[in-house]
Amino acid sequence: MDRFSRNVAPRNVNVEIVTIGDELLLGFTIDTNAAHLARELAAIGVAIVRRSTCGDGADDIAAAVREALDRTGAVITTGGLGPTSDDLTKPSIAAIFGRAMRLDEAVLENLKGRWKARGWPGDMPVANRQQAMIPEGATVLANRHGSAPGIWLEDEAGRWVVMLPGVPREMRGMCADVLLPRVRERLGASATVIASRTLRTSGVAESALPEILGPLASGFNGLSLAYLPGWEGVDLRLTCRGHLATEAAAMLETGVAAMRERLGVTVYGEGNDDLAAFVLQQLRARRMTIAVAESCTGGMLGARLTAIPGSSDVVLGGVIAYSNEVKEKHLGVHTSTIAAHGAVSEATAREMATGARTRFGADVAISITGIAGPDGGTPEKPVGTICIAVDVQGAVQSVRPAVVGDRDEIRSRSAQAALSLVRRALLLQSETT
Ligand code: ATP
Ligand code: MG
Repeated sequence: MDRFSRNVAPRNVNVEIVTIGDELLLGFTIDTNAAHLARELAAIGVAIVRRSTCGDGADDIAAAVREALDRTGAVITTGGLGPTSDDLTKPSIAAIFGRAMRLDEAVLENLKGRWKARGWPGDMPVANRQQAMIPEGATVLANRHGSAPGIWLEDEAGRWVVMLPGVPREMRGMCADVLLPRVRERLGASATVIASRTLRTSGVAESALPEILGPLASGFNGLSLAYLPGWEGVDLRLTCRGHLATEAAAMLETGVAAMRERLGVTVYGEGNDDLAAFVLQQLRARRMTIAVAESCTGGMLGARLTAIPGSSDVVLGGVIAYSNEVKEKHLGVHTSTIAAHGAVSEATAREMATGARTRFGADVAISITGIAGPDGGTPEKPVGTICIAVDVQGAVQSVRPAVVGDRDEIRSRSAQAALSLVRRALLLQSETT
């Protein structure tokens, strides 16, 4: 049993994160490690009370970790465990605890084994030995995802620092394998958690949601509600704080059910669910196929649909009809339609959808034509004017939403709006048949 598995009451549930690396300070690398740790720890009831970032210098690391330890007595660091000379995390932190560094033979053997297994020529470089240097009295945390092991260092007063590697994939792996189980064990069964569930909506404005949600609009039954608009739609995140994990799960379940009842078909999924995957699944269940006709999105809709594994039994193909000639020649849009209404018009979008459906022999076709900008807008059709049409077995619907954002955003939002329209058209169809 190491120092850690003692069955003691939780001493620290407040933790600070210190991420280490010049590249983070310079902004070349975005600090995804701190965000990941904060989310994962909150879920098991640990509050991250402060996050800081310091450079690779030994003094900087020592100062940042010492201050954090003084405040909370519990610190997680990432970065600077590698074999290169800028990786000074371990000795700097060992010094705070008044511990010397010693060579850990087991770690060294492990590193040598990894070096051999990789098939690199010659002996392991001397630099790698540094990774086997461990502060006296520290617990080595196995790293199944890379070479540098993590370190758990704790003093008599119960103050601790956990050092994890900087490489995000390794850090995430170690967080799941060793950090969370150990912290959970330390907190015991009485730990309260911060738990969330997120409902994903599409085709409804953020400002319209409070009215739809009515009494649930600003949180309810001890749950708080956050509105998170993005190009995919508005996500609604329900959060429960200060309850045991099982209680929180039950409260969220009830909360999600109440919200779903009010929101109805505007909800297409939860968590990271993808609208394209949902649409594919709906089409597959109806044994329907789909084709696309895209102007301003240039294939994004096709990319969204075909990104889903197994899409080939539903997606037949599509046309990137960017020029008017291609709209006419390959989709059968009438010259007179474009002349009368313009290439960006619901009339053109409808002919594009029907053209794609009949030419590909699909059950459903979806089309997008619009002005993604930054140029090309007019007072009547400003940048962000998008026309989308869906043809479901000959029944055609179209919409003309005004989409905001830069060119990228307008294109992404257009593809999402198109998927949203197909989804609704299919729902409508199953209601009427
Ligand atoms: P290694 O054993 O691979 O050297 P390390 O623990 O020394 O690992 P670093 O050298 O600090 O890690 O960082 C390795 C890589 O991970 C770098 O590419 C760095 O940009 C990236 N990285 C480091 N810290 C973070 C962070 N907080 N968020 C995202 N990426 C990070
Ligand atoms: Mg580094």
